[in-house]
Amino acid sequence: MKSNYGKNLFIAIIFCIVVTLGLCVAAKQMIKMDEEREEKEVFKELNNSDNIQDSENKDNIVSDQKPDESKLEIKITPEPTEIPQDTIEPIEPTPVSKDSINGKIIALDAGHQAKGNSEKEPLGPGSTEMKAKVASGTTGVSTKVAEYILTLDIALALRDELETRGYTVLMIRETHDINLSNRERAELANEGADIFVRLHANGSENQNVSGALTIYPSESNEFVGNISNECKKLAQAIIEEYCETTEAKNQGAIVMDNMSGINWCTIPVTIIEMGYMSNPKEDQKMQDPEYQKKMVQGIANGIDAYFNEE
Ligand SMILES: [Zn+2]
Repeated sequence: MKSNYGKNLFIAIIFCIVVTLGLCVAAKQMIKMDEEREEKEVFKELNNSDNIQDSENKDNIVSDQKPDESKLEIKITPEPTEIPQDTIEPIEPTPVSKDSINGKIIALDAGHQAKGNSEKEPLGPGSTEMKAKVASGTTGVSTKVAEYILTLDIALALRDELETRGYTVLMIRETHDINLSNRERAELANEGADIFVRLHANGSENQNVSGALTIYPSESNEFVGNISNECKKLAQAIIEEYCETTEAKNQGAIVMDNMSGINWCTIPVTIIEMGYMSNPKEDQKMQDPEYQKKMVQGIANGIDAYFNEE
């Protein structure tokens, strides 16, 4: 009897323990499920707000000063249908230094200026022969446009084109209202440029004459004979490319030793006579924006060709 009582008590205790344990486990499970549900909802909300910030306000995620407002908006505005997949930061174009591509410096001279200067200067270093500082230039027979206006128009467009191609450009003038002699222009170019390109337009008493030519000094030039060869290469490269691009008549690269703007140079130099302003058709053509683009391309191609030859 006694042992029976003890046995029953033992079973009852075990039963109680099992029931208690069972209840504990069940309660724990319910709490866990609840927590998980909450977590899921929080996660969902966070996810939504992140996406909206992402798509609307990519740049300001970190420095957003009104986070509450943007959260309010989440409830009002419908979710965006398109969420950018690409979360990589936008690539900004790397600024390219203009003189970093080929390192060549081109001095460009737009021939003439608003008013010529008839004062004299030596034809070259040490020369007793004197020449007018800068002539007034010619004028379009049909358009009445002055040479100094055409040369600067082309020089400015050529500067932009050359910079696009990676050159550094030294402009001898960017305005009409200056007073620079041909010697001074050469001396400015000598200071740091690799080559000097001088832009001019031609004039002839014969209105039928048309075409382009370039000028370089001869080997026997007493001032710059030592750079004649390089000047010739530059003059030939430019006239070939210019005439190919513009289809102007090619009058070739010719020798001239009486140009003070060449004789004061210490770097390869050429003058391009881009066309005849005395020829009505060529004068008009040189004022046509489409033809001017070809003029610019042609000269730039010639400069490219000169450096590629080196
Ligand atoms: Zn001229």
